Amino acid sequence: ADIDLYKLAAECVDMLKMNARKQNVTMKLCGKPCTVYADRQLMEELLYNLCDNAIRYNNRGGSVTVTVDEKDGHVFLSIRDTGIGIPTEHQDRVFERFYRVDKSRSKATGGTGLGLAIVKHIVAQHGASISLESQAGKGTEIRVEFSDALKQQMEERAENA
Ligand code: ATP
Ligand code: MG
Repeated sequence: ADIDLYKLAAECVDMLKMNARKQNVTMKLCGKPCTVYADRQLMEELLYNLCDNAIRYNNRGGSVTVTVDEKDGHVFLSIRDTGIGIPTEHQDRVFERFYRVDKSRSKATGGTGLGLAIVKHIVAQHGASISLESQAGKGTEIRVEFSDALKQQMEERAENA
């Protein structure tokens, strides 16, 4: 269905604000209402997993910025944090199931290492693309870009079904 990703992101930010506050992390939402053709529940799950990571792997006093906006006619979602970052040599692997960067540290922060694998799967299901930019000690940005081509495809499929 057509859903407003910005509104969904706002709900997710609201839901996680208390978690963030406990860790002294501030959350901010930027952008504007943007419609994407997507499964609402899966988008909620995607947003939740990315925001949860951005809070969990942050530092006290850090911040998380969630942006939903349009660029060149494409909707994108960005989740940027000022946290611990992901060392270059781990960046390709964090999307694998059960992969966690620092197992000893990760034990303290809970988690099973499935969040990003689920996110990757949801992104693929929607014909979207995902990219990660991160610097150890500085922070991480994950971007999900939605394409219109897929929307057309899905609509055609629905019509033919
Ligand atoms: P789960 O999400 O299943 O509760 P998890 O958070 O460990 O557990 P993923 O969300 O898949 O699993 O993330 C995999 C690993 O990638 C994490 O353990 C962490 O080491 C690293 N990671 C993910 N997001 C970030 C981030 N925003 N900043 C720093 N490291 C991150
Ligand atoms: Mg996670």
